[in-house]
Amino acid sequence: MRPLSGDGGRRRKWVGVDVGGTNVRAGCVDDQGQLFGWVSYPHEMAMGDFGCIEAAANQALETARTTWADVGGVGVAIAGLVDSSSGIVLDSANLGWRSLPLQAELQRRLGVPVTIENDVCASALAELAAQPGGRACPWLFVSVGTGIGACLVLDPADGRLLCLDVGHVAFGGDVLLGEGQKRCRCGKYGCLETVASGAAFTAAAKARISLEPGHPLRPRVATISGKDVLDNAVQGDRICVEVLTSAGRACGQAVANLVNLVTPVAVGLAGGMMCAGSPYLDGLLNVARSEVKPWLSDMCTFGTAIRGEKAGVIGVAELARRRVAVSSAVVAGHV
Ligand SMILES: [Zn+2]
Repeated sequence: MRPLSGDGGRRRKWVGVDVGGTNVRAGCVDDQGQLFGWVSYPHEMAMGDFGCIEAAANQALETARTTWADVGGVGVAIAGLVDSSSGIVLDSANLGWRSLPLQAELQRRLGVPVTIENDVCASALAELAAQPGGRACPWLFVSVGTGIGACLVLDPADGRLLCLDVGHVAFGGDVLLGEGQKRCRCGKYGCLETVASGAAFTAAAKARISLEPGHPLRPRVATISGKDVLDNAVQGDRICVEVLTSAGRACGQAVANLVNLVTPVAVGLAGGMMCAGSPYLDGLLNVARSEVKPWLSDMCTFGTAIRGEKAGVIGVAELARRRVAVSSAVVAGHV
């Protein structure tokens, strides 16, 4: 263990670690937000498995050819509900973590200030900074992967972010009652994630393809991935197009509800499905644009993410830099 550093203001490197549902990603970022070190690999984390985060941070520093002596702080993005002010992971269904004091434990192990944040919120901050001409707020960011999350950026300058757990709101498009609703990993029935997430449409595609003897994917139906579904849909496969369109339309309904509720000036859409030619994106935009209040649809624009899988690492490293700067200013009596 290294002694906890109090001189973050003189250290100019910031490490970001993004712990997703299936992958851990890490990188090193300088004061200008330039990423210069990167690692990404699948993980199998268990409750209290902090060693994986520490290992990812060490590997990021290695690839960036820098050392802990230059690091002012570490940011860790978590797929789950996070109380960033107290440094506690409240609930992460993916990682199986609940009421976990992650920040304190990592600071003890790493010896530098640690910031934790929800992964979608961290990505939102980095994506907004990358949007052309874009710092207009409020900005709504929606990310679709294994699960679905959203963040409302209220003010990027001071990092005011509102985490929106949209994946677990009740889906009210085609109202399914009783036995028709699927059980969500959170324990509820009928959440948006059970119909519109990557895990949901992949399961739907597998179920339908398994009933089609001549389908080219049927021989390996058990190993079909979300990317397989997208690739086949783009090539015109009927089942994959229908599955993705249906999931995208469900997500579009939820996005429209959010837009009507919080009236953002723009919406950013992230995830592997948000690309040109994707029936998921087409279905989402068709429903979202038709369901948004008419006066809002004229002023609210939709765009897709630019930084992709690196956004979480860049965003949470930037948050670590800002929070160390603020605490240094407090210590120095400047605020
Ligand atoms: Zn749920």
